[in-house]
Amino acid sequence: MSNEQLLTTTAEGRDREPATADPVLELDGIAKGFGSEDVIGDLSLSVRDGEILTLLGPSGCGKTTTLRLIAGLEKPDTGRVRLQDETVAGEGRFVPPEKRGVGVVFQDFALFPHLTARENIAFGLQDWNEADRDERVDDLLELVGLADHGEDYPDELSGGQQQRIALARSLAPEPEMLLLDEPFSNLDVDLRVEMREEVRRIIKETGVTAVSVTHDQEEALSISDRVAVMSDGDIEQIDTPQQVFQQPESRFVAGFLGHASFLSGDVRGDHVDTALGRVLRDDVNGLAHQYDGTAVDLLVRPDDVTASPAEGSEADGRVVYRRYLGPTVLYRVELDGGETIECMHNHSDRIDLDERVGVRVTADHDLAWFPADHREEIDEGADATAAGAD
Ligand code: ATP
Repeated sequence: MSNEQLLTTTAEGRDREPATADPVLELDGIAKGFGSEDVIGDLSLSVRDGEILTLLGPSGCGKTTTLRLIAGLEKPDTGRVRLQDETVAGEGRFVPPEKRGVGVVFQDFALFPHLTARENIAFGLQDWNEADRDERVDDLLELVGLADHGEDYPDELSGGQQQRIALARSLAPEPEMLLLDEPFSNLDVDLRVEMREEVRRIIKETGVTAVSVTHDQEEALSISDRVAVMSDGDIEQIDTPQQVFQQPESRFVAGFLGHASFLSGDVRGDHVDTALGRVLRDDVNGLAHQYDGTAVDLLVRPDDVTASPAEGSEADGRVVYRRYLGPTVLYRVELDGGETIECMHNHSDRIDLDERVGVRVTADHDLAWFPADHREEIDEGADATAAGAD
């Protein structure tokens, strides 16, 4: 799926939570270490009623530890966890997992193999009366689309069906909050895409607030109302999928959420001079007048630029890498000045390796930018020369 398609997918069909919705969960200055290793350091976040928030980050950044702190499977060293306005960890209190009203869907589904699907779902409803329990299980089997599979044992169910039953089991006691730990990692690729849609539908139908954990950016962008991008035990950025993808606040977030090339440029009045020509300052997000005369790096994703075969002065560089991805082809172009830019084209386009190409910025949205920390401000002399050459 191209980045453009990915954005379309995330932008549509999304019933956004109002910004004013009450927080169901609040983490306040949480720190957690194991032995001498500081895993989480001063992490704060709040999750609104009914939203799906995904913790996204590389392996080892502390996502699962954060989820376990919310569930009550770990105690924070410092800081406070609040669920529905009640402190469940910190300030001298610790509410155990079974008293938190939190359901957990584990990576491996953790269904009881000797119980049927019905019995698995009913497992957390021991103290319900039989009629209510049966009705609740019927409703959940219906909700997850497995009304005809209640008597099946887990080994008689496919991976996707097992996940639906695991979800139903976690939802059965009507938890305030659902936690999902890498929920799709045990499914094959095709099923993963199907189950993302399905899990989002089920969560939204029940209205439960959910926190999910993944290292898969496409999964995070497609199922979440908001995404918290984590690095080294802290949150780098938390925002809607569109914002974290299109307007990342750090180079780390930009790079983690998909292919990112950085095109260096110099801000000169109402435009930015780059190796690919001028980009209007108005087409760069929040690049105000005060940055005139500074060096910046523009974030260009592969669908923001288009390459086409060119010769002589029309050419900007040459294709040094080509990867066929089915619907699309990813090209890497080394510009004559040494910068590298990636372009995503339709699979029917054919540009050969080593071919000379012209590259144009064709983005139909404002580009994100970062201060060019490896370059000094443009010196006045160079500025005057460039201005004079125009
Ligand atoms: P992954 O995507 O690989 O699951 P993660 O972001 O979920 O990674 P965590 O599982 O939270 O990361 O682990 C963060 C760090 O904490 C790792 O270095 C891990 O080894 C360490 N860690 C987690 N749990 C424990 C534990 N119980 N004892 C010691 N170290 C732990």
